[in-house]
Amino acid sequence: MNVSAILAEKGASVFTLKSNINIMDAVRALRENKVGALVVSDDGTSIDGILSERDIVRGVAEQGAPCLDRKVGDLMTRNVVTCTEDATVSDLMELMTQGRFRHLPVVRGDALVGIVSIGDIVKRRIADVEREAEDIRSYIATA
Ligand code: AMP
Repeated sequence: MNVSAILAEKGASVFTLKSNINIMDAVRALRENKVGALVVSDDGTSIDGILSERDIVRGVAEQGAPCLDRKVGDLMTRNVVTCTEDATVSDLMELMTQGRFRHLPVVRGDALVGIVSIGDIVKRRIADVEREAEDIRSYIATA
């Protein structure tokens, strides 16, 4: 299975944040959208960074509550690793394992066209393994 198939199933909408909003508003956006990270994009298409709940935990641990008044641009990761729609599930697992992150924005050219999280990958891996087990069971039953 590749990223196109994952996006076709889960939808291609991506929640984005602007870099000049404060961290408290970003916390509310993470909660409202029920996600663990948001792509930072000032124009809604190009990727300026990514802000994960881990960045906020790190900020609060280092700076205390005043961190919540800082801007998204102060805490986000700027060097964002992305993938394309033809990437496979095993490509995604390798990128996430190597980079130690759980989110991969999907790009077509320079434009943001989706996002895949580790949860999406685990869901597909479980479905694949269950399908393989079912195929083996029915092969054995008919042999
Ligand atoms: P995560 O595990 O995705 O919640 O994020 C862990 C750390 O990696 C945080 O500092 C994120 O800002 C950063 N991060 C998340 N996704 C990416 C990505 N695709 N490329 C680069 N950094 C990322």
